[in-house]
Amino acid sequence: MRSVEDLSPSDRHGLEAALEEARAGLAEGGVPIGAVLLSAEGEVLGRGHNRRVQDQDPSVHAETDAFRAAGRQPHYRGTTMVTTLSPCWYCSGLVRQFGISRLVVGESKNFTGGHDWVAEHGVEVIVVDDERCVELMSGFIAEHPSLWHEDIGQELP
Ligand SMILES: [Zn+2]
Repeated sequence: MRSVEDLSPSDRHGLEAALEEARAGLAEGGVPIGAVLLSAEGEVLGRGHNRRVQDQDPSVHAETDAFRAAGRQPHYRGTTMVTTLSPCWYCSGLVRQFGISRLVVGESKNFTGGHDWVAEHGVEVIVVDDERCVELMSGFIAEHPSLWHEDIGQELP
């Protein structure tokens, strides 16, 4: 576990952009998770946020939104997926399927998806403990428990 200050400038910039996306999602009434796909050089290829509510589409997660915004890429070697929350299995599968080399996670306190699994398959994974990401998500979960459980594919306990 690292702090935001330990990130490289491009990873840190990516996390700031992902957080902006998450906040935009919240402002739209959606699930506040944001993501950015960075090139091997650290440039933003695509950015997006969860739009389950906005688009009435359960398949639009932050990572898939950023991935689609990046358009076609000849390959994903050297790219980094930056996300405000540990990726679910669906998005972890996306990282592995397309050979995205690195994964930067803003927080995994509120939810731990498949980041250990992708690390086992050779992806460089950096999990930071960004209190801003933690608070954004925990606030949302407390206010919208049913929406949160819908998003992670679970029934309310
Ligand atoms: Zn996902």
